[in-house]
Amino acid sequence: MKLTVPHMGLLSNAYTKVLREHGVDMCPPPRPSINTMNLGVRYSPEFACLPFKINLGNMIEALEGGVDTILMPGGYGPCRFGYYGVIQEQILRGLGYHFQMTRTDNPDSLGDMVKTIRDISDIKSKWDGYRVFYLILMRMAVLDSVEAMYFKMKPREINQGEAERAFDESLKIIEKATGYMKLFNAYNKIKDIFRDVKIDRTLKPLKVGILGEIFVVIEPFANMDLQRKLARMGVEVVRGVWLSDWLNDRFRFKPLKPNQNRLSRKWASPYLKYPSGGESIESVGKTVKFYKEGIDGIIHIMPFTCMPELVASTILHRISTDLNYPVLSLTFDEHVSEVNLQTRLEAFIDLLERRRKNRLASRFNSQ
Ligand code: SF4
Repeated sequence: MKLTVPHMGLLSNAYTKVLREHGVDMCPPPRPSINTMNLGVRYSPEFACLPFKINLGNMIEALEGGVDTILMPGGYGPCRFGYYGVIQEQILRGLGYHFQMTRTDNPDSLGDMVKTIRDISDIKSKWDGYRVFYLILMRMAVLDSVEAMYFKMKPREINQGEAERAFDESLKIIEKATGYMKLFNAYNKIKDIFRDVKIDRTLKPLKVGILGEIFVVIEPFANMDLQRKLARMGVEVVRGVWLSDWLNDRFRFKPLKPNQNRLSRKWASPYLKYPSGGESIESVGKTVKFYKEGIDGIIHIMPFTCMPELVASTILHRISTDLNYPVLSLTFDEHVSEVNLQTRLEAFIDLLERRRKNRLASRFNSQ
């Protein structure tokens, strides 16, 4: 069995090596690219959201590369994600591909996830299934913290490119850490690497909160590398959506970390009482939270035709007016141009800078 899973940010870095050590012939597809997008767009229904198209393109690339089994999370809920695997399978069979499709029917269920791992690998005992699954979750958490450290360091670095180098080196270290103890040591080493990045501690960069639909937030190809663009413009990115948080809310592998979804419901409650699917409740709740924390503005990103985030986006306009808080909503699909994105980002950052200057001037005048 040659197994593939479509890419979603750094997720494949968390499981590929671990599963290979347990007898799975993991063949990740190529990183999403313009070729992936073209394939996905050509064979997807026009109204499908962007993650569907990128996933489908990735599956075609993997099948062309010789894989015979695709693993795709399924599920149920208020958005279309649960149907993805079923429809993608039909499309691929219609194109003449022969393969097996494995689905985790309930990605919220620990038992279901562990069963999937045991089904595809040589892991026999339940205990080993749990041990390996939790190791993958811990690796994901370390990968997320590497990204968070990068976002903190990049706008303050003194020597251009040092934060990027620290990031790349950290990924290599995590790659080799396939046991709990090794991962613990790797994490300490990574913290030292980032501590060695020379930064200007007097700098107070603008802080921008990034919220929105999880796939488009964490997959750089889907958002045209928006977060790195901001970091390179000297902005500190404060991301409100992390895959490890999503997993921790369900599987509690970081028992001391509060449940982000529950907290978001509390913060969102004056504007949205019930989650409308996807990350809508996080988008609304964390916008309120970021405002209270003094984050300079919010960029809310979503795929075109994403129903849950469309609900959130409408509410964010109201929050923005109520609190006089800058919120930029960006919608991504195959038609978005890089130049258009860059122009909108520059205009937004300009606005935030002017607001900060005005704030400082009025504080100075009132003294
Ligand atoms: S949350 Fe939005 S973009 Fe993501 S799968 Fe659901 S509808 Fe599609």
